Amino acid sequence: MLKVEKLSKSFGGHQVLKDLTVDFPEHQTTVILGPSGSGKSTLLRSLNLLERPETGKYYFDQQSFDFARGINNKDTLAIRQQTEMVFQGYNLFPHLTVLKNIIEGPVQVLGIDKKTAEIQARQLLKKVGLADKADFYPSQLSGGQAQRVAIARSLAMQPKYILLDEPTSALDPELELEVLKVLLQLSAEKKSLVIVTHNLAFASKAADKIVFIENGQVLFDGSTQAFFAAKQQSRIKDFISAMT
Ligand code: ADP
Ligand code: MG
Repeated sequence: MLKVEKLSKSFGGHQVLKDLTVDFPEHQTTVILGPSGSGKSTLLRSLNLLERPETGKYYFDQQSFDFARGINNKDTLAIRQQTEMVFQGYNLFPHLTVLKNIIEGPVQVLGIDKKTAEIQARQLLKKVGLADKADFYPSQLSGGQAQRVAIARSLAMQPKYILLDEPTSALDPELELEVLKVLLQLSAEKKSLVIVTHNLAFASKAADKIVFIENGQVLFDGSTQAFFAAKQQSRIKDFISAMT
């Protein structure tokens, strides 16, 4: 279980998260929607402790932390490892092959032996449709392929949760589809995913739960079905019609 409670975060004088409470059920896909600048990335980065809200609680499994008191380095590292953030594919190591990119973390951080890590990496590459790209370098991949390698690399770290911030926003539509297909598959396999996206069609297919954020506050938190049924609620209606 991953949950944040009463998060508040400001940049300068600007309060970006306002007493925000939301939970992310395990083995479900939670999609975060909301207008630009509403605090989605700040929330996602807070889940991975890349941002530190000034106040609020953080719950992970049996543990709880208070942002006002701070979270020590050891706990931070442990949480980061369990909440892998998939950055846009461009943060792959350019000087390492695809295979080496994927085994780096498992070997260096998890201490898995190289042979085992390679076998797992090849399975993951197959899963994301890139079995034939193991020996390629990142510069030889399309944006969609690089993003799928980044997803495979996150999976290789065996985190409880995978966090994705607009994973396809930099991609052309046909490359976007191949990445969304992989995410739909992970969702169907009951991985624990938290995805920020503007793609409502994808959200309606992949999400078990939708959190709609505006102005640093949660305006909707419920099932995907309930979200799309809530069209009569004026803010959600405006948002949906602006997006479609
Ligand atoms: P979203 O992802 O929903 O578009 P963000 O979480 O990125 O929104 O940003 C919310 C608000 O916080 C925006 O007004 C943005 O300019 C501001 N913000 C985000 N990160 C920083 C930062 N590091 N420094 C200053 N302002 C920031
Ligand atoms: Mg953002």
